[in-house]
Amino acid sequence: MIQIEALPAFSDNYIWLLQDTATQRCAVVDPGDARPVLDWLDAHPQWQLTDILITHHHQDHVGGVEALKARSGAKVSGPANETIPARDVALRDGDAVTCLGIAFEVIEVPGHTLGHIAFHSAEGSGGAEGTGPLLFSGDTLFAGGCGRLFEGTPEQMHHSLQRLAVLPEATRVYCAHEYTLSNLRFANAAEPDNAHVLERLAEVEKLRAEQRITLPSSIGLERLTNPFLRTTETSVKQKADEWTKAANPSSIAVFAALRAWKNAF
Ligand code: ZN
Ligand code: FE
Repeated sequence: MIQIEALPAFSDNYIWLLQDTATQRCAVVDPGDARPVLDWLDAHPQWQLTDILITHHHQDHVGGVEALKARSGAKVSGPANETIPARDVALRDGDAVTCLGIAFEVIEVPGHTLGHIAFHSAEGSGGAEGTGPLLFSGDTLFAGGCGRLFEGTPEQMHHSLQRLAVLPEATRVYCAHEYTLSNLRFANAAEPDNAHVLERLAEVEKLRAEQRITLPSSIGLERLTNPFLRTTETSVKQKADEWTKAANPSSIAVFAALRAWKNAF
């Protein structure tokens, strides 16, 4: 049985900790800081860290890799097209990675960075009984939003998000930051009449008021509430057109307008 827990890091990062309770082996995704993981390992001396999965090269995702590898000997798997410290396995689109018996498929999702990858596991794959489909989306797909375009184009990011949006609705989405509240405030501005957004915004406001986590999300919920996955909706296009003061002729143009608007929001 795999359990997934969030280790908070910095002001709003989550390091995802996957625990195989049968073997007491564990893995982490995007350890930007070694400290929270080392503290957890110190508190759980029977457990062995075997794998470190990396989505992209930003320091808040890789800063803890070398210290954790030195301490545990864990295998570091990350994107082939980026410079990742202490990387053992270089991953490309369509590659298979097995971690704690879970079979993941690598999906290249350029946009936030050019080599960004996501890790997707289909239902019941490998030994991950009962985990259901999973997605570790890094800084590409956030709950209610998406990452900034530091390296890629709107076209690349739009395409990357579309690839994630077609995963099964039940896929649980583990992204790397707690940005959900500000994302949903923007979603509400972009789509004021979307009842699903209003309902989710109320839930997330309550969770954050209690300083609770708003993740994981699901692909189904993102399709209903994330404006960056809803660029073909007429109402979203209208709001994007209002912001650009010109008609956006394509889904990519609507996406680019939304992203620029969110940057200024
Ligand atoms: Zn990043
Ligand atoms: Fe980040």
